[in-house]
Amino acid sequence: MTSQCLFCRIIAGEIPSTTIYSDDHVYAFRDINPAAPAHILVIPRKHLSSIDDAQNEDEALLGKLMLSARAIARSEGLSEHGFRLVINTGDDGGQTVHHLHVHILGGRSMTWPPG
Ligand code: 5GP
Ligand code: ZN
Repeated sequence: MTSQCLFCRIIAGEIPSTTIYSDDHVYAFRDINPAAPAHILVIPRKHLSSIDDAQNEDEALLGKLMLSARAIARSEGLSEHGFRLVINTGDDGGQTVHHLHVHILGGRSMTWPPG
């Protein structure tokens, strides 16, 4: 079945990706255009357009998403020096793919505020 959503197509294997982690609820893969030495996207298998689309019933799923990001950062060796989790939301947030995703960025020192 062909989905219109890019990340749903990645989950379905219709578009190849480099898998970092996969379970019944969460999928993680390398960003195609890395903004840091380590740049991984963590996404729910359930299609949510953005964090703004999440409902109370998604509470456990959002918890899994964050704990998965934490575990992946740890297994990628980012925990010692630190890392950044980012959820871009909507136009002003700079969101370009409308399937909720958590960016894990690490491997270099980050600046603040972001652009
Ligand atoms: P956003 O700007 O929506 O927060 O982040 C979308 C991210 O998805 C970007 O960092 C972009 O590089 C990444 N991306 C877009 N298309 C693909 C793709 O086909 N494969 C992978 N692995 N990453 C993608
Ligand atoms: Zn989707």
